[in-house]
Amino acid sequence: MNDGKKKGLVQVYTGDGKGKTTAALGLVLRAVGKGHSAFIIQFMKGKINYGELESCGELTNTEIEQYGRADFVDKENPAQVDINFAEEGFQRAKEVISSGDYDIVVLDEMNITLDYELLDKEKVIEAIEDRPEHVEVVLTGRYAPSSIIDAADLVSVISEVKHPFRDGIEAREGIEY
Ligand code: ATP
Ligand code: MG
Repeated sequence: MNDGKKKGLVQVYTGDGKGKTTAALGLVLRAVGKGHSAFIIQFMKGKINYGELESCGELTNTEIEQYGRADFVDKENPAQVDINFAEEGFQRAKEVISSGDYDIVVLDEMNITLDYELLDKEKVIEAIEDRPEHVEVVLTGRYAPSSIIDAADLVSVISEVKHPFRDGIEAREGIEY
């Protein structure tokens, strides 16, 4: 824990443009450079070899864990395994947040997890509001529910103006994952 940072706030990165998860990762990079500690929990992601899984292992005071499958979740009819992963990730998030051991806790793709109704919004907001004072919580993902936006201190909406995917350029290693 770094005492240079006082009150922890709640940040939300949402919208349909690229840059939400990378914004949170950039924040972690900056924070650990100043002696803060960070824990990243990735929801709805699993077994995909994201670059951050490797680089976070190299960073001091930084942990990252994934709770999800490599496949897409069916929004209309989510599989039980997807609900279980979300619940397991949330239990872990509550432990990590309430421990106060980490200055920054990133709940990557939490917004979309809530939009897909894999978790209860009220319980997530309660866990965020009950955090120790110095803990900063960052939620990423498209379609942030209005109750999450209301609970946040900082909200950035990243809009797609252009994305190379539309020109047929597939996800690139080290850029998209
Ligand atoms: P990134 O992880 O690159 O910061 P993101 O977190 O903003 O992206 P997500 O909504 O989580 O984006 O998207 C999941 C995947 O789709 C990522 O690989 C991301 O790079 C890619 N992506 C993001 N925005 C777009 C878009 N507008 N069109 C196509 N693919 C996108
Ligand atoms: Mg993302």
